[in-house]
Amino acid sequence: MSDFCKGCTACCRGDTIFLLPGDDPSQFETVPTDDGRRALRQIGGECIYLTDDGCAIYGRQPLMCQRFNCVDYFRSKSRQERRRLERRRPEHFPAIFAAARERGA
Ligand code: SF4
Ligand code: SF4
Repeated sequence: MSDFCKGCTACCRGDTIFLLPGDDPSQFETVPTDDGRRALRQIGGECIYLTDDGCAIYGRQPLMCQRFNCVDYFRSKSRQERRRLERRRPEHFPAIFAAARERGA
């Protein structure tokens, strides 16, 4: 995990990580999605690469993992939007926004 994340793995749970242009699909365990994209395989709602020690492929994660910053994401949403997201995905967004708040959002 990066210094920014410091052991937080909220992003790795409860959401789908898609490969983006620039990712090499041969480097990841993926599944096809209905809309024709590739997503990291999940087990029990968690990314297949998530371990007790964090990301097993840290340093070569898909671009979506490398680029996501919860503080920026938090700040890009209004309070109302955040509440709506938390209600819609209670297994995912509350932890993400809590992590963002802990980091100064
Ligand atoms: S929620 Fe924020 S701190 Fe936690 S893993 Fe994601 S980017 Fe890192
Ligand atoms: S590849 Fe690593 S950083 Fe990305 S969701 Fe999976 S465990 Fe988290």
